[in-house]
Amino acid sequence: MKEYSIEEVSHIVRPKLGEDIPLTLYRILRVIGMRNILGETSGATLYMMGKQVGTMIGAKDLGEFEGKIKELKVGIPEVQVIDEDHVIVKLYECITCAGFVYTGEMFCDMESGIIAGLLEGVFKKKAKSTQTKSWSLGYNYCEFEIILY
Ligand SMILES: [Zn+2]
Repeated sequence: MKEYSIEEVSHIVRPKLGEDIPLTLYRILRVIGMRNILGETSGATLYMMGKQVGTMIGAKDLGEFEGKIKELKVGIPEVQVIDEDHVIVKLYECITCAGFVYTGEMFCDMESGIIAGLLEGVFKKKAKSTQTKSWSLGYNYCEFEIILY
């Protein structure tokens, strides 16, 4: 199976429809399709996928981190560096869960992975991100705790 680069998938020729897609389509693929196909392992798989994507995109510093997350419309991040090993990222307008009703579970694993992958580039350390808040738990933003090691 071939592996494709970001450059290759970014070459889009859609003169009438353009580069944007309805967010509902993304969420059908992401929240319904991927979870149904991947089942119980969907969280771990989506996290690893996000992490790889975050690493490929890359960020040199926190300014670039925030810029990339916003540019890709993953959400609007608010970064809080707690100490040299801990970072908290609040994500407003999360691509996956913003507006979601209370479901009692969290599922922004891919976003968590993207954040971890990007922060590895920023801090030049390994990063493990854990989601702690979500619209689906009754908050109006998403939150991730990142451990750097
Ligand atoms: Zn979310």
